[in-house]
Amino acid sequence: MIICAHCETSQFLHITESTIEFDNGEMSTLEESYHCTKCDGNGVYWYFFEKECVSGSVELTDERPRMIEQ
Ligand SMILES: [Zn+2]
Repeated sequence: MIICAHCETSQFLHITESTIEFDNGEMSTLEESYHCTKCDGNGVYWYFFEKECVSGSVELTDERPRMIEQ
């Protein structure tokens, strides 16, 4: 999942822009811009031919979203 690098939660992240490209009917690239409403940080997430990367104030984690955030 994608979390804010400063707040360490996805709770305040909002997608501000999303671009998807398809290649032969399959998703080849995905670009999503995120904005954190708590710390005012911005980051970008890319999915590019089965590889993922992030830039800016977002982090990629293997954790599943928790139902209860304390
Ligand atoms: Zn934040």
